[in-house]
Amino acid sequence: MFNPIIHVEAAAVILILSLFSLRFKLLNKSGVLASIPIGYIIYVFGGVEYFILLLVFYLTSGMATKLRVRQIGKEVMDKDWIRSWKNVVANGTAAVMISLLSVMGFDRGQITAAYLGAVGTAFADTLATEVGLLYPREPRLITNMRKVVRGTPGAVSPYGYLGGIIALLVLMLSSMVTGIAGLKIVIATMISGVLGMTIDSVLGATIQSKYRCIVCGKLTENKVHCGRAAEKVEGISFIDTHIVNLISTISGAVIAYLIAST
Ligand SMILES: [Zn+2]
Repeated sequence: MFNPIIHVEAAAVILILSLFSLRFKLLNKSGVLASIPIGYIIYVFGGVEYFILLLVFYLTSGMATKLRVRQIGKEVMDKDWIRSWKNVVANGTAAVMISLLSVMGFDRGQITAAYLGAVGTAFADTLATEVGLLYPREPRLITNMRKVVRGTPGAVSPYGYLGGIIALLVLMLSSMVTGIAGLKIVIATMISGVLGMTIDSVLGATIQSKYRCIVCGKLTENKVHCGRAAEKVEGISFIDTHIVNLISTISGAVIAYLIAST
């Protein structure tokens, strides 16, 4: 890591990606700013292979969101579709911590599994949301299986799980191509990713704060709806969708680490 070339390389790659992200609206300005240190640490400490896996997640999710916005409009999900720093930090923190652990003498294989568990959970959850929005029927709440309105935190559908599994297959293939994962780690990626996105849904359905719009009456995960402050109806106030993402990516990492350690 005292090799200056890798720092120059990381800086150049991240600069190009930052401009690309702004140009194609994959992130807003705050999102790009937050992604710079995250990408840098992962590139320099985790290595270029870890960075490539993050990039596969980032570009595939960005592309899926753009396609969905073009296909069914941005109004379907009532949040801003251009991702911000909150999204970047929620999905990138576990990956950064694991990259730092990778230079502290931990077993590289187990650390790679943990990294894939974290990135896999974030990737699966993101693609599950995008593909799930295409489901023609009403999704069901993961806790009681009752039909709920599309976009409700904790709502699941067969399309959502299909999207998540596609994300994990893409990530598994990428990790094999980059040569950092063998069969055991690849299996750990799939299991931890499916469990991680399920944990995300369970937390979304239970502890995540939910609000009811005082204008249109819709249940939402946003504090503001239809331009007005919405009324909190359930969940813990400070636990929003980003905190749920953070907890579920850490859970995915721990699960993958444990599987790889057996
Ligand atoms: Zn409303």
